[in-house]
Amino acid sequence: QHNLFSALRAAFPADLASTAVETTSADGRPLLYSWSDLDRASARMANLLASLKLPEGSRVAVQVEKSVEAMLLYLATLRAGYVFLPLNTAYQSAEIEYFIGNAEPAVVVCTPGNFGWVSKIAFTQGTQHVFTLGDDRTGSLLERAAHHGDEHTPVQRQADDLAAILYTSGTTGRSKGAMLTHGNLQSNAEVLKDYWGWKSGDVLIHALPIFHVHGLFVAIHGALINGSKMIWFSKFDPKAVLAAMPRATVFMGVPTLYVRLLAEAGLNKEAAKNMRLFVAGSAPLLIETFNAWQQRTGHTILERYGMSETIMLTSNPYAADARHAGQTERRGATVGFPLPGVGLRVVDDAGKALPVGEIGNIQVQGPNVFKGYWRMPEKTAEEFTADGWFKTGDVGKVDERDYVSIVGRSKDLIISGGYNVYPAEIEGYINDMPGVAESALVGVPHPDFGEVGVAVVIAKPGAKLDGEAIVASLKSQLANFKIPKRCFVADELPRNTMGKVQKNLLRDQHKGLFA
Ligand code: ATP
Ligand code: MG
Repeated sequence: QHNLFSALRAAFPADLASTAVETTSADGRPLLYSWSDLDRASARMANLLASLKLPEGSRVAVQVEKSVEAMLLYLATLRAGYVFLPLNTAYQSAEIEYFIGNAEPAVVVCTPGNFGWVSKIAFTQGTQHVFTLGDDRTGSLLERAAHHGDEHTPVQRQADDLAAILYTSGTTGRSKGAMLTHGNLQSNAEVLKDYWGWKSGDVLIHALPIFHVHGLFVAIHGALINGSKMIWFSKFDPKAVLAAMPRATVFMGVPTLYVRLLAEAGLNKEAAKNMRLFVAGSAPLLIETFNAWQQRTGHTILERYGMSETIMLTSNPYAADARHAGQTERRGATVGFPLPGVGLRVVDDAGKALPVGEIGNIQVQGPNVFKGYWRMPEKTAEEFTADGWFKTGDVGKVDERDYVSIVGRSKDLIISGGYNVYPAEIEGYINDMPGVAESALVGVPHPDFGEVGVAVVIAKPGAKLDGEAIVASLKSQLANFKIPKRCFVADELPRNTMGKVQKNLLRDQHKGLFA
């Protein structure tokens, strides 16, 4: 039996009446779920799904506000043996039309408020069942599930059977559906449980969205497979997270969440003294944030790296890593070591392995690597090498102590006059200048050089920046081909919900500069 739900269920504590999730209702009242509540409510939904007699492998597409019931729907879908397909709550009709048309789900679950337009799209595309789920436990899904029994035996699955399709964030182009199996998810959850030292008594603060790897898999699996309580926030509110810290031990966040917590005067060693672990990922964590966090809380953020296609790939050590000379250091601006069972190599564009310290394309292998892109066999074939390694699309290096650093994405690489320019290198120099909060370098077409770099910089509060002065200062430090041809000062960088800078938008905005 390889149903991931069975592995999670087996880790529930013996005392099923104890609290599994602590949250606040939409109207602000405290709300507790016991382990038995999770078991019984997900059984009801699984029985409802089973009663629909859906074909094998059916997708259950879900675009709802974050709620405990939305997580239970995920567990119910696993239990019933179907394929969970979460969708970003920000998506509007054109996007939903694409995803529903592409994934052809048998079941769609949307918010009561969106039922009109979502159901119209779904029924037009051949979906048989549309349910609603509100963030306050309203909607037809729960009404219907209430008529079903609260016991359910997980459907038999093989490790290779699909458990979820996760659409990538669309940072570099149109989102692709990554097909993840029960085996992918279970192996990664088990590795992380061990590598991050989960132990009894741990309490996780869950404040991430649940339509991505970070919030749905890393966080939820992490807590469930350890039988740990979650303090659950439907929206990230730095003050509320801070107030929960004394009762928690683990927090996971994208870098912007750390930046927002640092803006809270109450964030200090006292507030964080019960915490055991702070994990960051999904986008690069600025070294400044890493250092500031250490100073303010006494904790060293553990940065890790992963993606929709592979779940987690690398992590800084939590404790001494015997595979790497017992190293314990969590190094800022690195994403640590390949996780146990994960193979990672850096190759040049011809696929040849590169020596230590050299920058190249990151390729990976392991039980966590996905089955392929949903209905994109050609794209899937392109992204795997002949010897079975997955091309992550990320560019990076491995140092002599085996720490991996991400330098950028191959699609963001700028080739100017035949020379490779790695945006992260130039951004690093710009970010070190006084008054600079952050920056982004993108390549735009240029008649002579093919492409040139254009920088967009954001000032620290109260600071005044001058684009020309920044370019002049870079000229004294770096080779000419690396110097951005223009530098703009802006109010903020465009980011998606996971805090990733949307360089495609910046490229579009500036593509006509030298045309
Ligand atoms: P798309 O593939 O559609 O362009 P995406 O790659 O942003 O979008 P995700 O799968 O959600 O979609 O994100 C994975 C990517 O996030 C990784 O390939 C990597 O570029 C980036 N990433 C994740 N963790 C880190 C990290 N710790 N440091 C730097 N980058 C990271
Ligand atoms: Mg990607």
